[in-house]
Amino acid sequence: MDTTRSQELFDRARELIPGGVNSPARAWTSVGGTPLFFNRAKGSKIWDEDGNELIDYVCSWGPMILGHAHPAVLSAVQEAAINGTSFGAPTAAEVRMAELVVNAVPSIEMVRFVSSGTEATMSALRLARAYTGRNKIMKFVGGYHGHDDALLVSAGSAAAGHGIPDSAGVHPDYAKDTLVTPYNDLAGVEQLFAENPSQIACIIVEPIAGNMGVVPPNEGFLEGLSAITEKDGSLLIFDEVISGFRTALGGAQSIYGVSPDITCLGKIVGGGLPVGAYGGSKEIMGTVAPLGPMYQAGTLSGNPVAMAVGIAMLEELGKPGVYEELARKGAALEKGLSEAFAEAEVPARVNRVGSLLTVFFTGDPVSDMDSASATDRDKFARFFHAIVAEGVYPPPSQFEAWFVSLAHTDQDIAKTITAAKRALATL
Ligand SMILES: *Cc1c(COP(=O)(O)O)cnc(C)c1O
Repeated sequence: MDTTRSQELFDRARELIPGGVNSPARAWTSVGGTPLFFNRAKGSKIWDEDGNELIDYVCSWGPMILGHAHPAVLSAVQEAAINGTSFGAPTAAEVRMAELVVNAVPSIEMVRFVSSGTEATMSALRLARAYTGRNKIMKFVGGYHGHDDALLVSAGSAAAGHGIPDSAGVHPDYAKDTLVTPYNDLAGVEQLFAENPSQIACIIVEPIAGNMGVVPPNEGFLEGLSAITEKDGSLLIFDEVISGFRTALGGAQSIYGVSPDITCLGKIVGGGLPVGAYGGSKEIMGTVAPLGPMYQAGTLSGNPVAMAVGIAMLEELGKPGVYEELARKGAALEKGLSEAFAEAEVPARVNRVGSLLTVFFTGDPVSDMDSASATDRDKFARFFHAIVAEGVYPPPSQFEAWFVSLAHTDQDIAKTITAAKRALATL
């Protein structure tokens, strides 16, 4: 595979941009090598600067659930942009978009749009603290909630891949009120609540963990969090930046039947444009300015082009059969990959929920960050490079999800399985 152009661009980029990238996960740090520079994508395919065609399972880390350059999304961008790209004033599109989110997500009665997932989670924390009048917060080891200071403690995703569980530059005072316990560990949560009664403003959790690789919640885990927070007068925040609109239109909360107090959204909600959102009951959202005392604002929040794309996305995803089809594709990929590993006698596990999955090289179950970290990550790195050479682009890190889109055809999945078999033969 010729990667001359990508290598040239990466050399230039590293002189101009830290590490050559505008977000660390893109730099291939945990698998090594030169990241591919892409210039075009359509449906399930993505093309790099050297003209190599790959089947894309990164899908912009989730947003491209309809596939790249979907016609409904492209016409939404064009029609909106012609009328101006930002007004800094209310628009009808924001009202329509809010209606779609409120109708889709069971626990959201009122929603505020922001410009990224990070903005959604940091605002949700501020809201929980404002509403409860408490300072402490709780998160889980390997839970990634964007790069807010208070949340960069034992964070997963690229922070984990880089071995910087705690970022430099975070004022210790911002992180000192962040309590941390392993994912799927209800006893740990109970203990922290017992040690800090009526002091914890909220638990923030990915209801399906996606940033230590995909790790589903154990049976009863989310219900337990809901019961513990309710009893203590604390709030439960579901960070559905990945799981929202991914596993069902109503997100993970609609699948597991657990209602959080606040939900954070991002990624799919903007369909590839910068959108995040946080929402909850009218009572809790009444705390947000200008209705209430918690200040939060954004010059480009609810941007008309981004809202138009969000509306197009949610309308497409609301069509019948979409999530059944996504789950069918996810299951076919899981089955094929699992068979390929078995055939090659390589110990591996595929964790999957719907169209989200992660391949771990281990014979043991992966249920939290410890078990995810204990897998054979060198083998993952070698597998990654080998399957890229076969024309398949999975996430360049063990601690990320593969995203299957509606545009992935049965043929793409069959090709992926063949590519995996060839890649395994080289390990
Ligand atoms: C990606 C992600 C975020 C941060 O979203 P950005 O748009 O990258 O700021 C927050 N939470 C989760 C679960 C994520 O996967």
